[in-house]
Amino acid sequence: MMMCMKKNLKTFMFSLLVLFVASCETTETGLQDGYGGYVNTQSPEDQERLNQFTNDGRDIIPSAERITAAANDVGDICYDCSASDVASTRNTSGRSTYPTALKNYPNPSRGCIPLEDVSLSQARAAMQSQNITFATSGTDAQTGLRIQAPSEQSERTLGAAILRVQQLNGGPMAAGRYDSSNPFQFRILNRPYSRQEPDHIKIAHSHRNSVAQYVHEWAHFIANKNGRQIYSQYQNRLGGGSNFCMVSGYADGTSDSSHASRWSEQFAEAFTAFVTEPSLLLNNGSAACRNAYNFFKDELFNDGDRVSECL
Ligand SMILES: [Zn+2]
Repeated sequence: MMMCMKKNLKTFMFSLLVLFVASCETTETGLQDGYGGYVNTQSPEDQERLNQFTNDGRDIIPSAERITAAANDVGDICYDCSASDVASTRNTSGRSTYPTALKNYPNPSRGCIPLEDVSLSQARAAMQSQNITFATSGTDAQTGLRIQAPSEQSERTLGAAILRVQQLNGGPMAAGRYDSSNPFQFRILNRPYSRQEPDHIKIAHSHRNSVAQYVHEWAHFIANKNGRQIYSQYQNRLGGGSNFCMVSGYADGTSDSSHASRWSEQFAEAFTAFVTEPSLLLNNGSAACRNAYNFFKDELFNDGDRVSECL
């Protein structure tokens, strides 16, 4: 079984506590030394996260703003677990057409807007309107991997994903815009899975031309940042608890997923289905997926009725 990289907030906060407790020194220099010693024992991802949380170790006591951001932005917990890890037996009320994540199938990967209808300049304009861009060079600090420049097809694929969301929304989506002077980066990396991080999204090279892959990760971005309210409303509309919309096998997360991560993954998958292959939500047969469909059509998107163009 593939081991999932599960970034548990509790574990992370415990790590911070260990850091503070381990730093018995009372002087700032002593604390800095303690920080350096602790960080160096962590994985690259933990190091990066600690650095982000503490302003590269300069803020030994993180600001309230950073604590809030870390607590709310849980990222993509585990996106590429194998189908055998999917706990679909926990919820049999719906019928999943696809046993694994939507990104693995032709229809959601193709999306609703034909790629030939999206020019490179249109794609780049769409990205700019959401303050999103592709990183084109350099190294990903967490993984040490070289960032691959996107092909024209990849840029147009991300553009098609954004443009479809904007069609449904009647223009750029505020909750999907990155509030920073620097654009939010998508980084294509030679690794097997994608992941939303607080300030960038890692895209698996093998899924760099899948509309569903971009929409899924962008949905995490929305749920974790400006769209936290949307995420709450979505859960309320479905009735909370375990009323998951099993629009794909991956919509329930993985067998070792926490309750929070299961909601996170199925929101991302339901959002992706509505944008790329909405009939999946209607044909699922569960009340949860019908509720999800109606939420996106009637509540979230201003022009949600345009979903009919893709049915
Ligand atoms: Zn995910």
